[in-house]
Amino acid sequence: MKTSDQPAYEILALRYATTDLMRPRRENFFPGMDLHDGEMPLDYYVWVIRGEGRCLLVDTGFGTEAASTRHRTLLHQPTDLLQRAGIQPAKISDVILTHLHYDHAGNLDRFPKARFHLQEDEMRFATGRNMCHACLKAPFECRDVTQAVEIVFDGRMVFHDGDTEIFPGIEVFRIGGHSGGLQVVRVSTARGKLVLASDAFHFTENRLRRAPFPIVYHVGEMLDGFARCETLAGGDPDLLIPGHDPDVGLRWPALSPDLPDIVRLDLPPQTKFQY
Ligand SMILES: [Zn+2]
Ligand SMILES: [Zn+2]
Repeated sequence: MKTSDQPAYEILALRYATTDLMRPRRENFFPGMDLHDGEMPLDYYVWVIRGEGRCLLVDTGFGTEAASTRHRTLLHQPTDLLQRAGIQPAKISDVILTHLHYDHAGNLDRFPKARFHLQEDEMRFATGRNMCHACLKAPFECRDVTQAVEIVFDGRMVFHDGDTEIFPGIEVFRIGGHSGGLQVVRVSTARGKLVLASDAFHFTENRLRRAPFPIVYHVGEMLDGFARCETLAGGDPDLLIPGHDPDVGLRWPALSPDLPDIVRLDLPPQTKFQY
């Protein structure tokens, strides 16, 4: 639990997009690890950390173009959703990019003043020889990566090399497996240290069954990453937030009744953890 010397941030999960509701379950697990029939749609989120006089964004989502070419349903332009939460995108000082996949690192030009935080390994991965392979470059958009490079030249990229504390009570940890340099974010809240796991695991079921999502660079590191995330969250599943699980939007309370796609993760979930 929170101790008196730790900050207590508010954390919002903003659900900005979703997939076809008929997406088959087997598409969400390593080949052969799920043979059940049925549907298992994904949701897409960006996250806000605010309090202690600062307001940070974690990931920037995608826009209409990627939604169209990749056949995703854009429910809201992420910056519109931020504004509905009372946040002016232009005033965001810091953006943590968990990694550079299209659904996490689009819309970068909508934050022209922000400083960005990225693992150096991720930039190396997204601009190096691995992008010569179709299956590894598939989750990236060249335009997002080139905009990230422009941010480097503009002097607004802060590279991290492994685990570090960015601000008091806001830490990043490098987790292998999904991409070249994914980082998860751990935030101090009134109910404990909460881990935004991003794509360390897409669904809680990926983690619990040790059955990786099929977008994976290193299977062993991804499996080790599941355990590391659990340790970072102190073993409390309610403090461990998956990257794409519709369960997040269903279990946590809405910011307000007219904003059901924005939930408060710093508050306790409304229903018990059960799988
Ligand atoms: Zn990803
Ligand atoms: Zn993702």
